[in-house]
Amino acid sequence: MEEKKAKFGDLMKSQVIYHPEKCVGCHLCAMACSLRYEGVVNPLKARIKIIKNNNITEKIVTTANCTRCGHCTTVCHYGALELKTLSLSGV
Ligand code: SF4
Ligand code: SF4
Repeated sequence: MEEKKAKFGDLMKSQVIYHPEKCVGCHLCAMACSLRYEGVVNPLKARIKIIKNNNITEKIVTTANCTRCGHCTTVCHYGALELKTLSLSGV
């Protein structure tokens, strides 16, 4: 029982954190994601979506099939994406 508890305590979960106010709408993140998972540079096929209103980023979302690999966060030069690794211990 104790051993099982320790294993659960070691589990980690990643999460993409969005800062839409810093996003310039370049879609580099979406291009990187689509290239990695679909083999094509096509933001429409990406697992991350930049939602704009009057050409200003209103919202950033990831789709249900996002693996939380963090690849998109590494190509954003504006600090609009961040990968956080959360420990599930104590949850
Ligand atoms: S999140 Fe970053 S990489 Fe993606 S569109 Fe915005 S500025 Fe570009
Ligand atoms: S975390 Fe990975 S799968 Fe999810 S949107 Fe970013 S690159 Fe795509």
